[in-house]
Amino acid sequence: MYAADPPLVAGRLVDGVPELVDPSQPVASAFDLGLVRGDGIFETLLVRHGGVRALSAHLSRMSASAERLGMEALSRSAWASLAAACADGWPPEVEGVLKLVMTRGLDGLPGPATCLATLAPVLPETLRQRREGVGVRLLSLGVASDERARSPWLLGGTKSVSYAVNMAALRQAKADGAQDVVFMSTDGLVLEGPTSTVVWASGHCLHSPSLDSGILAGTTQAELFERAEHAGWATAAVPTTPVDLVAADAVWLVSSVRGAAAITSIDGTSRGDAGLTPTVHQLLDLVDH
Ligand code: PLP
Repeated sequence: MYAADPPLVAGRLVDGVPELVDPSQPVASAFDLGLVRGDGIFETLLVRHGGVRALSAHLSRMSASAERLGMEALSRSAWASLAAACADGWPPEVEGVLKLVMTRGLDGLPGPATCLATLAPVLPETLRQRREGVGVRLLSLGVASDERARSPWLLGGTKSVSYAVNMAALRQAKADGAQDVVFMSTDGLVLEGPTSTVVWASGHCLHSPSLDSGILAGTTQAELFERAEHAGWATAAVPTTPVDLVAADAVWLVSSVRGAAAITSIDGTSRGDAGLTPTVHQLLDLVDH
């Protein structure tokens, strides 16, 4: 079910049962800890040709995020039903962004987690970046590459709703004339984008930064590497420096909705993609026939 022009869908879980709600109406309490403390988790998925992509991988990561935040365990079947209810009837020609959000519930009041979903069209700018790529700024995240592994309260590798720092970094990049960001550790290693995983090609090998730096395990990167291996590529997770990115044949920011966006400049210096982006889009099944 969706409201026309633009199509928007909202839903929630009530006692584990999916329910679609009027997308123009508020569904969260003013006391919700997701709103007042940024205390919750989320996932962002692509709806393409009417189907929800990689639902199982996203639900697995959401379960891991819930566990790391000490939140109640996820009912995978309830969330899968909510995702299906949202996508049901979505126009197949429109790519959609499905967000699943679970917060700790209400401040000071006993009760269950708040469980919401929204579905909206992918922004034209996101589709443009998939096609044409992005210029990036390298910006410090202010942590050493080994800090988040030994400090679990920093929530490395957890997809929490506390993304204000990530959004501020994107605004900084835009103020500097770029479109996106690659976060750096204080000891000079490449970490990740604010909403994406860094992937780089060198020879016939795809690389991404190692997970032990506390970056989020990307579902798109995992899927890309699996498919690339079947197609004869080597893959490796390695400590990565800016020198690696400059020397690479191609570098992408990969994520569920945008897919792979080629990095076309780093801190104002242009770089190419050796014609590899169509291959990566094909591996990710993002080519329209
Ligand atoms: N890293 C961060 C910090 C993200 O927020 C995201 C997605 O939003 C990703 C990586 C890419 O993850 P996925 O490929 O599962 O969308």
